[in-house]
Amino acid sequence: MRPVQKALPTEVLTTRDETFTIQAIYKSHTDARMPLEANLDVYCSYCEVFSSDLEVEHIISQNQDSSRTHDWDNFLLSCGRCNGKDNKSNKTVDLNTMYFPHRDNTLLAFQYLEGGVVILHPNLTQDQKKKAEATMNLLGLDKRAGNPNYHKNDTRWKHRRGAWEKADEYLKKWEKEETNIPAIIILALSTGFFSVWFTVFEKHIEVRQALVEAFKGTARDCFDANYNPIPRNTNDI
Ligand SMILES: [Zn+2]
Repeated sequence: MRPVQKALPTEVLTTRDETFTIQAIYKSHTDARMPLEANLDVYCSYCEVFSSDLEVEHIISQNQDSSRTHDWDNFLLSCGRCNGKDNKSNKTVDLNTMYFPHRDNTLLAFQYLEGGVVILHPNLTQDQKKKAEATMNLLGLDKRAGNPNYHKNDTRWKHRRGAWEKADEYLKKWEKEETNIPAIIILALSTGFFSVWFTVFEKHIEVRQALVEAFKGTARDCFDANYNPIPRNTNDI
């Protein structure tokens, strides 16, 4: 899951079409959608799918705490599936026992594999594994054929598998010097799934750097000088 840097209230964000000054409170949470997209671009904050139909997602749901309904710092962007009733929806969220992409280096929580597979990262400690697992279950990130909770209309894993295949094709071209970074970035941005591209190009620092710089809102402090993911929090990921 791509770690992101949320803009702070009063910060000014400019896109090619508009300028937004981030507010601490939004009268209607839907008014925050365009500023969120200016901050984080048009990807689900959880499954990372590219979408023109994202929802402003309440991290702490309105059911759990209605006082947070209008708070910018309680918003992320989500696709309908991650935020749907079979996944996150109104379920109780405890920020201390789960990982979120605006607070943690969520690249360290999960591992992305060929075929659209997502698993808990094998390097986690037992305590960290519990938090990653709670996050995985909240969002249903590992749902695919074979998972007992899988619903056939949940196509997130197929899109992720498609992204892996594109990234892998471009990795082979890159290694044969048949493509260049701008071409890889154009394809990655229009496909989404930052984590998949970042994983597939793990041996190529210059491509990883270009991905971090091109995907708007990626948290820069989550990477070392060689673009390896590093913890964002003391004693945690
Ligand atoms: Zn999603």
